[in-house]
Amino acid sequence: MDRSETVFQDIVDGGGETAKLYRMGGIYVHVPFCLKKCPYCDFYSITDLSLRNAYMSALEKEIALTGQVPLEFDTLYMGGGTPSVLETRQVVRIIEAFMKNFNMRKGSEITIEVNPGTVSLQDFQDFRRAGVNRINIGIQSFQEKNLKFLGRIHSAAEAEKAVENARIAGFDNIGLDLMYGLPGQNADEWKKDLQRAVSHSPRHLSCYMLSYETGTIMDHDRQKGIFRPLPDPAVGKLFKITVAFLQDNGIVQYEISNYSDSPETRSRHNRKYWHFAPYLGFGPGAHSFVDKKRFWNHRDIHTYLSLLNQNRRPMAGQEMLNRNQQMTETIYLGLRTTGGIDIPCFEDRFRIGFAEIFGELIEDFKNRRFLKVDLERCRLTLRGMLMLDSIAGMFVENIPNLAKPEPN
Ligand code: SF4
Repeated sequence: MDRSETVFQDIVDGGGETAKLYRMGGIYVHVPFCLKKCPYCDFYSITDLSLRNAYMSALEKEIALTGQVPLEFDTLYMGGGTPSVLETRQVVRIIEAFMKNFNMRKGSEITIEVNPGTVSLQDFQDFRRAGVNRINIGIQSFQEKNLKFLGRIHSAAEAEKAVENARIAGFDNIGLDLMYGLPGQNADEWKKDLQRAVSHSPRHLSCYMLSYETGTIMDHDRQKGIFRPLPDPAVGKLFKITVAFLQDNGIVQYEISNYSDSPETRSRHNRKYWHFAPYLGFGPGAHSFVDKKRFWNHRDIHTYLSLLNQNRRPMAGQEMLNRNQQMTETIYLGLRTTGGIDIPCFEDRFRIGFAEIFGELIEDFKNRRFLKVDLERCRLTLRGMLMLDSIAGMFVENIPNLAKPEPN
């Protein structure tokens, strides 16, 4: 038997352990197609749309090969890539396949990411009829100049139209993605995008800092000096403006890049990643996490298609997270959220005193106004969020390498 095929057997055999960890699961579907590659993007996607039919057959086979999973699911997230480059009947097929093969709870959050250059009113209406109840629109900016720099396929007018069409089709739970920290961007320019976004009354906003990922065209151009990145202090200022501006408009930060107009409209699916709920990923490069085990698919679509053609699951690797890896993730993921690290939960899980291992570090970060800590929570201030990676890294350096019993 292919080693990848043992994963679900382990879950089934997990018995009491599985029961203890039982929580609602999430499903992620990676749709690896885009009309054009954006120069800043390092997500896996290809522009050869002729592979869409083969992808659909392979995805349906992957779902069937996954078989019975002893979990109940309450989210389905279609991301990418650009899921909206699929034909709507294909999106409908994906939803139906999961409804049929998995124990999807009534009222599940079903999200699709769309690119404004690829959706019509009819598409939104079809998505809604198919059961999609949450739309995430990759706007990035409402300004032509920025869209051009980011290499987006859509215009500012199409961005506006997409939000209006989603609304006309009857969607209430609409989320918008924006990007800031572009070269030369000042506070007034960024506020114009925020203002345009808020004028559409979205329930959710994701505001991402532009980052220069290794291997992307944009990173290459930056290194060649084709443009000058916005200096870090200026980016930090835009971050703080974002939090304050949205808060003034009733949209509250709950994670470093995510904001919602109420606790109910926070992304149920993404919160699973931050809180160690189980999730299964389908499609090229998709990751899964169940029972402390992480496993992931081959990223290259040709390998993915070829394995499924041979009726083999497309898994590229798996690992069992040890105690230190689990602690590391708890710290990184906890510090990303405004709720921070839940200290009693951490102590219960790892059977160690939080202050006992991190006491000195906490005092230092508190004094430097990077952290707020009480008996229940350890959270980053806004100033601290700008240093997330280095602060989390220093916490991780302090994790003792003791042979302890496996966490609960
Ligand atoms: S549309 Fe999205 S996934 Fe596709 S290349 Fe652009 S940023 Fe990446």
